[in-house]
Amino acid sequence: MENFLDYYQLHNSTNDIKEKYNPNPDGKICKFCKEKYPAVTFNTIPHIVPELFGRNSIISNFECDNCNKKFQKYESDLSTMIQHYLALTKTKTKNGIPNFQSSKSRDEFSTTTKILNNTLKLSFGTNYEDFEFNEKNKTLTVKFRTRKFSPFSVYKVFLKMGISLLTEDELNENIHYLDFLNSEEPLDNGMQIWSCYRYMLKTKYHAKPKINLYKAKRTLIDDVEFPEYAILINFANVVFQFFLPISKKNYSEHKAKNKLRIELFPSFSLENIREINYIDMYILELNEKQKVSITDTIVLYYERRETNI
Ligand SMILES: [Zn+2]
Repeated sequence: MENFLDYYQLHNSTNDIKEKYNPNPDGKICKFCKEKYPAVTFNTIPHIVPELFGRNSIISNFECDNCNKKFQKYESDLSTMIQHYLALTKTKTKNGIPNFQSSKSRDEFSTTTKILNNTLKLSFGTNYEDFEFNEKNKTLTVKFRTRKFSPFSVYKVFLKMGISLLTEDELNENIHYLDFLNSEEPLDNGMQIWSCYRYMLKTKYHAKPKINLYKAKRTLIDDVEFPEYAILINFANVVFQFFLPISKKNYSEHKAKNKLRIELFPSFSLENIREINYIDMYILELNEKQKVSITDTIVLYYERRETNI
């Protein structure tokens, strides 16, 4: 069966970025707002892969302090969205391993995670509907109700990571990406692909987070259009797949009769295939600016359980 990798090739990866921070701002231009030094400053060391995905040293010299500050705000929404993954996988971020606390009404207890002696403790209070044991399969299915976050802020952080991996020429050809990135409101002009796909890996763990940029080998095959750029964000045992907006090339080839095809990355190709019998995928829609809480259902596998219920 054909899949994403038949239609897309790896174009750039943060694994290949060896850049060091250059404290001299002379000649620096911000890739995201196009302002130059000294109109803007470059004093903070910007990360291409936000450290909320786990500690890393993948940095750039093309992000001004204004953009860095602005995006930190959006990153806090992303941090809320992914907190339970980081807690479950004991991923160390800039602020240590986060604890998860579920969204709750006033008279309810939160479901929480905590790391004690390097062991993950889940406590559900009286939220019995949040978990389900299956003794036969040795699984624990947990519903994580996240605290509220803005999906549109998450969209912007993902888009920024994608833009970071484009070459200058590719970005100049797709300068409309910056309008989308810097817009306060979700622009609904049919060019953005709001769905983002999450896979949970069962047999692999990424000690270091990374982002891969994929480019369509062909953007038009017969009457089927393929979004030109997609990124894959890997951290801990989570993979997010995100498409950059319709590119200028896509737009120039577009015809109303054509169909847009969204290919999904074969996450099983990252796994020990012999140990996998199904794929766990979840779709998130990122076009909502209002803060929302999502319920993410995750299946955990265990060897042995000790509970006090
Ligand atoms: Zn800037």
